Amino acid sequence: MKISLRILCFSCLSVFSASLLAVDEERKIRQAMPGELQTVPSKKFKALVYSNSSGFKHKSIPTGVKALKVMSEKTKLFTADFTVTTEKFTPEGLSSYDLLIFNNCTRVQKAFTKNEQRQAILDFIKQGKAFVGFHAASDGGTPQWKEYTEMIGGCFAGHPWNAGGKWPFIVEDPDHAVNQAFASKEFSFSDEIYQYKDYNRSKLRVLVGLDAIKSGKEGNSPTNDYPVSWVKSYGKGRVFYSNFGHNKASWWTPFLLQHFLDGIRWSLGDLQGSSESLSQPYKI
Ligand SMILES: [Zn+2]
Repeated sequence: MKISLRILCFSCLSVFSASLLAVDEERKIRQAMPGELQTVPSKKFKALVYSNSSGFKHKSIPTGVKALKVMSEKTKLFTADFTVTTEKFTPEGLSSYDLLIFNNCTRVQKAFTKNEQRQAILDFIKQGKAFVGFHAASDGGTPQWKEYTEMIGGCFAGHPWNAGGKWPFIVEDPDHAVNQAFASKEFSFSDEIYQYKDYNRSKLRVLVGLDAIKSGKEGNSPTNDYPVSWVKSYGKGRVFYSNFGHNKASWWTPFLLQHFLDGIRWSLGDLQGSSESLSQPYKI
C-alpha cells in the first residue's frame, strides 16, 4: 500500500512539474513574441503547419507549435491549422491555405510517398503560394524526393556544430526586410547547425550564414559555405527556410521570433525583398 501511494505521489509530482514547465515555456514565448503588426496585412492569411517526424523526433516540436500558435494570436497575420497527418495534402485539401509551414519534420519522403501528394505540395508553391521550413524541415528529400530538396534549397548532411555549442553567425544581407531583427552584422548563438548536400548558393539568397572559420570546426563545404537562413523563389511562390529551431530556447528568443515572423511575412508577399543570389561575403 505504502509503495503504491509513493508511486502515485511521484506520478502526481511529475505531471505537476511537467505542466509547470509547459506554463513557463508558454510565458517565455508570449513575452518574446512580437506584438500586433504595424501595418495591416493585405489579407488574413491561412497556414497549415505540419509537424510530423518520419525520422529523428525533435523535442522542440511542441515548442515550435506553441510559438506558431502564439505568433498567430499576437500578430494576427495568419490563422493556423496544425497537423501531423498527410490527409490534407491534396490539391483540394490545400486550396484554402496560403502558407505551408514544415515545423521540424524529418524525412518527408517517408511521409509523402504518393506522387500525387508530392505534386500537390510542389504545385501549391509553384502556383504562387508560400512555404516556410524550420530546422529539420531540410532533413529529407534527396535522394528519394529530390524535387523537395530543390524546392527548399538544400538537404541536411549532418551537424558538425552541435546543439550545445555557441556558434558565430554573419548577417549576410543586413538590409533585407527579413533581417531587420538583427542588431549587428555578427552574432553568436546556441543551436544545432547543419551542413548540406544538394545546396547551390546561386539558386537562393542567403540571409544568415555560419562563420565556419571562426567556429573552429570543419564541415563538408570546400568553400566554408554554410547557409543558415535563406529565401528563394520557386515558380511563382516564395520559400523561407531557417536552420534555427533545434533547441527549445530558439523559440523564445526575441530576435529569432522576429526573424521567423519576417520570413513568414516575406513568403506571403507581405514584406518585399529580393530572392536573387548573393556571392559569399567572407573569405573562404
Ligand atoms: Zn536538430
